[in-house]
Order: sequence, then C-alpha cells, then structure tokens
Amino acid sequence: MSFHLYNTLTKRVDEFSPLHEGIVTMYNCGPTVYKSIHIGNYRSYVFADILRRKLEADGYEVRQIINLTDVGHMGTDFGRGEDKIEKAAREEHLTPYELSNKYTEQFFIDRKRLRLKDPLLYPRATEHIDEVIEMVDLLLKNGHAYNVNGTVYYDIASMPDYGKLSGNSVDELIAGSRVVVDPNKRHPLDFALWINDPKHVLQWQSPWGSGYPGWHMECSVMSAKYLTPAYASGTLDIEKFHTIDIHSGGEDNLFPHHECEIAQSEGATGKKFVNYWLHIKHLIVEGRKMSKSEGNFYTVQDLVDKGISPRAIRYSLMSTNYRQLMNFTFDTLKSAEKNVSTLNGLVGMLDAVITARPNVPSDSGLEDAVAAQRAGFNSALDDNMNMSRALSYAFELRRMALEHARSGSLSAEGAATIKGALYAMNSIFDILDDPAPANGGYDEEIASLVALRDQARKDKVYDEADRLRHALEERGFTVQDTKEGTKIHRKQ
Ligand code: AMP
Ligand code: ZN
Repeated sequence: MSFHLYNTLTKRVDEFSPLHEGIVTMYNCGPTVYKSIHIGNYRSYVFADILRRKLEADGYEVRQIINLTDVGHMGTDFGRGEDKIEKAAREEHLTPYELSNKYTEQFFIDRKRLRLKDPLLYPRATEHIDEVIEMVDLLLKNGHAYNVNGTVYYDIASMPDYGKLSGNSVDELIAGSRVVVDPNKRHPLDFALWINDPKHVLQWQSPWGSGYPGWHMECSVMSAKYLTPAYASGTLDIEKFHTIDIHSGGEDNLFPHHECEIAQSEGATGKKFVNYWLHIKHLIVEGRKMSKSEGNFYTVQDLVDKGISPRAIRYSLMSTNYRQLMNFTFDTLKSAEKNVSTLNGLVGMLDAVITARPNVPSDSGLEDAVAAQRAGFNSALDDNMNMSRALSYAFELRRMALEHARSGSLSAEGAATIKGALYAMNSIFDILDDPAPANGGYDEEIASLVALRDQARKDKVYDEADRLRHALEERGFTVQDTKEGTKIHRKQ
C-alpha cells in the first residue's frame, strides 16, 4: 500500500507523492515564543516528528523547517490587538528579544527531552524582515495589496479562491471569525501584511515608513527561502519558487493563518503554494483547547515534576491518531508510562534470551510471523499515520516473544529477530532505551578482532574464525555467532 494522508486542501485522504523524487519538503508552523511551549503544542510537533521519521524510513530525504514566531502574532485574529511577544515582555520586564530567547531555549531543551529530531533550521521572523518587505512590495505591485497610512493590507477580493483551505465562503468566514471593524480596510477579512504602529517596540524601516510584519508573512517567506531555490540569488525569484510538499500545524492554524499564507504565497508567485496541508486536532482539557492564552496548560517540566517521564509524554501524544481530538488526562499519561516500561522490559527479556540461549535452534515460523508484524506496522502508518494501530503491532511482538519463551522455543536467534523488528518500529516511535553500542563499546583491539572474525566467517575461512574466537576468549569474552555477526559478552 502506498502512503496516504488526509489533506485539508482536498478534504480527502490523498496518496502522497512528493514533487521531486526521493525528497520531501516539509514546513511545520513553529511556536510563538512568548510563553512556555506546552504539551498541546507538542502534540503538533510530535506528529511532525513521527511523520518525518516515517518518510525517512521510506527512504526519503526530508527537508524540514520549523519557524520561531518572535514578532507580529497579535492577540486578535484580524484587529490590531497587541503583539503577544510585546505584551508578555512588558509583563515579565524583559525586552522582546530577551523574552523570545528565554522561551526558545526552553523549547530546544524540551524538544530534546521529547526526542524530537532537529529540522534543518529554526528560522526567526525578526531575522527575515528584508524578505518580508520584498514580498509585500511584490504584492503591492501586482495588485494583491494596498497601503493605508503605512499599513499594508492584503486585498482578499483580488484572490477569488480565498477560503479554499478552510472550505468556507468569505461570508461564512466573516460570520465565524472574530473580525474587528477597521475603517481602513476595504473588506473585513483583509489582513495586515505590514503594520504601522508607533507604539510597537520592534520597528523596522520600510518603503511605507516604520513598522513591523503581520504574523502570516513570515511563514510565506521562510518556507520559500529554505525549502525552494526561490532566494538562491539573495532576492526573491518567483521563477525559481516551486510548490512545497507538506505544511502542517494544529487545527487552529487552519484559519486565518494558513488561509492567509496561501493568499500571500500564491499571490506573490502565481504558483501553488503547498500540495499537502495537514492539521493536527487539538489536545483538549475539560472540553477546551489546551492553550497558552487560556492558561490551562502543562509544560513538559510541569509533568516531569509530577514524576512523568518525557518518554511517556511522547508516547501519550503520539498514541491518539492525529485526526482525533485528544483528551488530556493523568490516567492516559500513567498508562503511557506503563506501556513505555513494558516495551523496554521486552528488550531486557530479549537480551537475556540472546545471552542465555545461544545454541538453541531457531524456532520455525517465527521469522515470518515477525515480518508480518513489521508489515502491519508499516501499513498502519501508510494509512494516514494510524499510530494507535501501528503501536499495537509492537505489543503483538511482545505477545509472540512471551508465548515462545513460555513454551521454551525462543532461541537467541528468534529473540534477536524480534528485537530487530522492535527497533525498526522504534525508529519511528522512539521510546526505547538506546541499544547497547556495538560490542558493548569495547576497545579498538577487541572491536577489530570481532570485525576480522566476521570477515573470516563471511569468507568461509573457518580456521581463521576459530583462531580469532580463541583470541577473544583469551581476552575474557564469550563468543556467540548470530545472524547479525559475532556477538561477545565479557565473562562474569
Ligand atoms: P502557537 O505558539 O500558538 O503559534 O502554536 C504552535 C503550534 O501548536 C501551532 O501549530 C498550533 O496550531 C499548535 N497548537 C496549539 N495548541 C494546540 C493544542 N491544544 N493541540 C494541538 N496543537 C496545538
Ligand atoms: Zn505559520
């Protein structure tokens, strides 16, 4: 089965096919770094992480970008409101940069704790002002924007398919959003690309006077800059822009943020912005979205302080499928903790069998049964990242291991096969202890004796292989032949 994903743009499950063979470009909307990033946000980032790992396991090179919003995200959707960064900076008696650096650092620490792989780059909005100005200028010149007293608005009437992502007509969008009446705008849904506000602390010079960028601009600019060759010459070349494969965010990003990004990018380049739009359903607390502004959130540290491991948080956030709302409860976290420890316990048990039963013959049929679990795991992921089903195959491996162990038919080889399958799955879910380093991290002499012995066995030079076995035994090791090659253990 090929890989299928629910695409908000087409409103159906589409077969995934990247623009360029073997490469996937992926942009995940990053956090506004004005408060601690909470585990609701991390639901979106854990999903992006397992999606990236799944694509990598399928052999793609994934070019991933996660931005950091450090200016321009306003408290209200369409009105001026107040910049979240500046409001929080004032309350914490910090400069906007000190504030965003503080929460960015914590974001990086928590990402490591949750085992989230780093993207190519974490670009910041404040470091891309020239590019924003250039794109806004282009939108003004090609008739998609207008300037009122130094604030530049996007003219949604110039983009007839505005609303295509959220699937709503402009009238429905007005009815459903918190539109603030602004006499400067031609249409209530027109949104600011560049804002003139003398009270704003962060200001940059532009052709329209001093100001700062609207929130949506940064993602149009940074995705084009880092995922396409559009800025290869230093300035925007729309001929070189190409469609980005994947763009994701929590479902609250869908409107207005992503709708506006499409209008900006497609208005500027005349090309399709993104092929696959993915939206992660919210993590909710007592019926409401876990959110920074509501204050009903837990950070990774809050939960660690309550004795919950980051691995359990990771497991819990990934185990509900991303297209389902997820309820935050401590019971879910406790059962995630149990599942993490059960699967790590399985590794311990398999290691014990690998050490203790080197000469028991391999159990017939086990290899095929394990392969079937791996195939089941992969096909669950192919099915729109059905993680809850995928994880069930890891537990099926455990059931098989226990069944064979109880009947005395689990050989070292069989245990190694199960362990191999479990770690292949773990390349996606990543909640297991890291496997012991090759040969237990033994020194170079020992490691080279092992490597030489593996070569001798491959070349069927058995005298030499025996000689090397004795050399290892003399140095205090037991030597075991496995499918993956020579395994050694220090004699007790
Ligand atoms: P923000 O910092 O508010 O821009 O959010 C950063 C990312 O987290 C965005 O992609 C949001 O859509 C996502 N997000 C925010 N709250 C939640 C939640 N409760 N559940 C899932 N994703 C969320
Ligand atoms: Zn964004």
